[in-house]
This record gives sequence, structure tokens and C-alpha cells, in this order.
Amino acid sequence: DRLGVALVGLGYYSTDLLAPALQQTKNCYLAGIVTGTPAKAETWKKKYNIPDKNIYNYQTFDQIANNPDIDVVYVVLPPSMHEEYVVRAAKAGKHVWCEKPMAITAKECQNMIDACKKNKVSLAIGYRLHHEPNTQEYVKLLRDGKIGKIQMVSCSAGYRDNRTNHWKQTKELGGGVMYDMGVYVLQGARLATGEEPIAVTAQQFTSRPEIYKNGLDETTMAQLEFPSGARAAVQTSFGMNMNYLYVTGDKGMLKMEPYSAYNGQTGEYPGGKIQHPYQVPFQQASQMDDDAASIMAGKPMLVPGEEGLRDIIIVEAIYKAAKSGQRVKIA
Ligand code: NAD
Repeated sequence: DRLGVALVGLGYYSTDLLAPALQQTKNCYLAGIVTGTPAKAETWKKKYNIPDKNIYNYQTFDQIANNPDIDVVYVVLPPSMHEEYVVRAAKAGKHVWCEKPMAITAKECQNMIDACKKNKVSLAIGYRLHHEPNTQEYVKLLRDGKIGKIQMVSCSAGYRDNRTNHWKQTKELGGGVMYDMGVYVLQGARLATGEEPIAVTAQQFTSRPEIYKNGLDETTMAQLEFPSGARAAVQTSFGMNMNYLYVTGDKGMLKMEPYSAYNGQTGEYPGGKIQHPYQVPFQQASQMDDDAASIMAGKPMLVPGEEGLRDIIIVEAIYKAAKSGQRVKIA
């Protein structure tokens, strides 16, 4: 059997990655859409054979509760809208998948987790890398002690974004690079160490203040301290192209480059290489198949809401640290 998925928000990621991936999935399929743009509804309906009864807009969204074709609602909206639509989907009794960053504040994340618990539905965050074999292999190698005790992590993720008035450049909609590519470098540091940071320092700047207004971060650099004594330096930017993870241990170094791309990940460590090639959108298909299988089996999600929350707690600490210039402890 397969689960029916409704995509909410038909922008770049839904259009270019998730809908194509849902043509490859075995455990779920594209059953419905939620969009505020009638022209998009028309295009998608034709392209993907979506029946009219499975097409919603933001006003009719809650009626999805009465639609047995829809098992999962996948929220692919700007981050400031994630909390509202995840909570509404949970209240409609649907399982929920939500794109990263989970939300703007830890409080919103907690509300989302609570709403899903209360309505007895699953909540998964769209961290696609957890579902791909290169990431799974480097995490296992590090846990198995291949490079010894982890001492230092350096992780960077950025690309040159030349848009000007997109939500990524609008604070109220969840803009700022730390929320966007920033969660990938936090994931890099947390997956590499297997620990949660206890304190951060951070610096933010923009080379284009006319686009990244009022101190919104085009680039963020942060330093994380972990309980074992390991440290991480992470960099993320909408101004420059960079993508790597370097992990230094007392017995050697592990390197992934690119680290968070849609494909092409390559790794090196003493005595070995990591390279599992695949075609885009394998990661997204694999993520949705894994999550659908877990739902059908009544198992916990590989990347539950709590995992999204952990990153947002750190993101909030990083903004606080950058603004104050102080070291910020994380409880
Ligand atoms: P996008 O701007 O291309 O699409 C956003 C969609 O939301 C658009 O269809 C837009 O019409 C709709 N929308 C509804 N109300 C809106 C409002 N008030 N303001 C702006 N847009 C509104 O963005 P995207 O790149 O598709 O990103 C959507 C989500 O997916 C974000 O959470 C983003 O971080 C995430 N994403 C994840 C990945 C990944 O690799 N996991 C990649 C890209 C984007």
C-alpha cells in the first residue's frame, strides 16, 4: 500500500525536487496539492493527474481532514508559515512532513511537536541527508572511531543567491542565511561529533546591505563548544559558494566534499573513500519513502520534530551571540 501526500506551497522545492521525487517513490505518491495560485493548480492538475477534490487553497485547507486520499501533508512554505500549517495539518488528523528550518523559534517548534502528539500523528523534518548513504556512512565511520576522538569540525555551506526580495532576504518570513543553509552546517557539526553544543560564539555580516537589510545575515560564522571538548567552526552564506565538512580526530581526518549537495558527495578518510553516486532527486525520494514506511509500520520518524527543534535552539543562540558579541550558553 502507498500513502497519499499533499504538497503545501508549490514553489521551487516542491516543483523541482519533491514532485519529481514523488514519481519515483514506492511507499507514497503525490495525491494532492495546496496552493494559493489557481494557475499553478491547473498546471499541476494536468501534469500529475490530480483530481479536483484533492486540490486545496489556503482557505479550504482545513477541509483536508475529510479527504481519505490524503495521509500526509508536506509543508513546503517559507519558514515563518511552518508552524501554522503544521498545526492545522495535525488538527486535520494528517501525518506531517515539514521542510527545514523547522520554524523561526524553539517555541514554535515545541508547539508543532505538541500539536502532532496531541492529534496522534507523526512529524518528520525534511533533512534529506539523513536518508542518503554517504552521510550514513561517514556518521557510522566516525561513531566506530575510525579517526579516533573527534577534536575539531569545520563545516561550510553557502551559495551565491542573487535574488533581491525573496523570503530568504525578508526577516519576517524566516529569512537570513543562518536559518536556511545554516541548519546544514549545524547538522554537520552535530552529526560529526554526535554531541549537542553547550555554548556558541558567532559573527554575522553582509557584503550587500541593500539586499540583506537591517542587519539580516548574508553570512554567518559560528564557533560551537561540545561537552567532550570538541569544537566546531561553521560558516554559511548567501554570498559565496562553498560546501564541505572536515572532521579532525586524534587518529586522522575525514573529509566530505561536497557535503550537503543534492548529489555528488565524496568522502575521504585514512585508508578509504566514501562515494555512493545517484541521480537527483534520489535523496528526496529516499526520504519520503523512509518516512512513509515508518508511518505505515507505526515506527518513529528517522528525523522527528525534536531533531528540527535542536537546530533551532542553536540557531537562536547564534543570533543572540552575534548580536551581543558574547559567548552564549545553551542549556
Ligand atoms: P519558494 O519561494 O520557491 O516557494 C515558496 C512557496 O510558498 C511559493 O510557492 C509561494 O507562492 C508560497 N507562499 C505562500 N505564501 C507565501 C508568502 N506569504 N510569502 C512567500 N511565499 C509564499 O521557496 P522554496 O525554495 O521552495 O522553499 C520552501 C521551503 O522548502 C523552505 O522551508 C525551504 O527552506 C525549503 N527547502 C528545502 C530544501 C532542501 O534541500 N531540503 C531545498 C530548498 C528549499
